[in-house]
Amino acid sequence: MLEWLIIGGGIHGTYLSLVLTTRAGIPRDRVRVLDPHPQPLACWSARAVNTGMTHLRSPDVHNLDLDPLSLFHSARRCAEPPETCFAGIYRNQPSFSFFQRHAMWVMQQYRLADLRIVGRAERIARGAGGLRVETADGALEARRVLLAIGPSDPYRPEWARPLSTQPVPLHHVFDSDFQRTTLPPWTHAVIIGGGITAAQTALALAHRAPGTVTLVSRHPFREYPFDSDPCWFSSCLIPFGREASLARRRALIDRARHRGSIPPDVLQQLRTAVTRRALAAQFATVQQAFVRPDGHLALTIGNDDGAQTIIADRVILATGFAQERPGGQWLTRTIAELELACSACGYPITDRTLCWHPAGLYVTGALAELELGPAARNIIGARLAAERIMAVAAAEYRSASSL
Ligand SMILES: Cc1cc2nc3c(=O)[nH]c(=O)nc-3n(C[C@H](O)[C@H](O)[C@H](O)COP(=O)(O)OP(=O)(O)OC[C@H]3O[C@@H](n4cnc5c(N)ncnc54)[C@H](O)[C@@H]3O)c2cc1C
Repeated sequence: MLEWLIIGGGIHGTYLSLVLTTRAGIPRDRVRVLDPHPQPLACWSARAVNTGMTHLRSPDVHNLDLDPLSLFHSARRCAEPPETCFAGIYRNQPSFSFFQRHAMWVMQQYRLADLRIVGRAERIARGAGGLRVETADGALEARRVLLAIGPSDPYRPEWARPLSTQPVPLHHVFDSDFQRTTLPPWTHAVIIGGGITAAQTALALAHRAPGTVTLVSRHPFREYPFDSDPCWFSSCLIPFGREASLARRRALIDRARHRGSIPPDVLQQLRTAVTRRALAAQFATVQQAFVRPDGHLALTIGNDDGAQTIIADRVILATGFAQERPGGQWLTRTIAELELACSACGYPITDRTLCWHPAGLYVTGALAELELGPAARNIIGARLAAERIMAVAAAEYRSASSL
């Protein structure tokens, strides 16, 4: 039987597989990572490419190696001119391609690809001595299961939902079947959203076809370097952990997260592109949308100054992820079957070690938010989760193997 089965081989699952097989001392043949994608980090990579992001928003110490300074020390692996390897006000945000190269190097160094099993978890049930994870190709038994399944589904505003089932030129930048780089030419592309994803996607499209792109944001641009204050990587977690009310923890998370914000360097690029008329920006809300006989979309957008209709032959939603608990129906069924505790917001109630069920079910990423705070979904969230899970994993494995 496996010691640990990690469900999800993205940023979190991959990093946790490294920590379990190295620092926690679990033998490699007792740890597996289950993911439907043969390639590690497939969802992360596809989303990042779709937005056209050139640099990460987070600093270099947030990387996939055990040593936080590993990426900084391996600057020779950055195939770009030194001035583009790092960006940001502190010049410590790695370029996306450098981060990717380093991540692949970490995976090769520790042979992490060997730990992967291709498949999708469809159900978790109690098994003899642990948990049983069912997939379309059969069941896997493990003493401990870690859910590292990433964010919720892409969020679609109310007006876009009926259109999503029709063959119209409307996409979400995080749809699994969307590829920005292979989009056919457009006459007028409209990006909906006001945060970093919308800004980067608009810049990428404007770079390809200047003067054909409009960014529609329902609020003025909000400038923040990070998506939450860096205190949430350490000091702010102390009072957060002491907060007994999960409703208040949720409120703290909502307040701390700078949703729909843009870091200064990307905002600068956006403003420059607007000044040069490479793209247009409108601060307005979409009031309605319909399909014209020619297949183009007509969007009525409005603000305090009135309403207007804009026509687009390509509309891309950059509206983030839905707020609800990730995992969808299969996890909802598992919650009912295993009687897993959830807060009023729907997210897991775990102990400090991120254990959701005493039979050995653990969580990381967005699912660990009520323990790890607003940065739980980020790369640093994987490191925070590893600190909590590792101690218990090492101790439990030692005591089980001494029996
Ligand atoms: C465009 C973009 C840029 C970002 N930039 C940064 C940044 O600069 N810095 C930062 O710290 N954070 C950033 N983030 C946030 C965060 O780091 C990423 O979202 C990261 O991918 C989260 O890692 P994850 O492992 O939780 O999710 P993912 O990387 O999405 O991995 C989840 C994996 O779980 C798998 N999975 C899901 N369900 C199942 C199932 N039932 N069975 C088996 N496998 C399953 C999926 O296939 C996927 O491979 C960014 C996010 C986005 C979208």
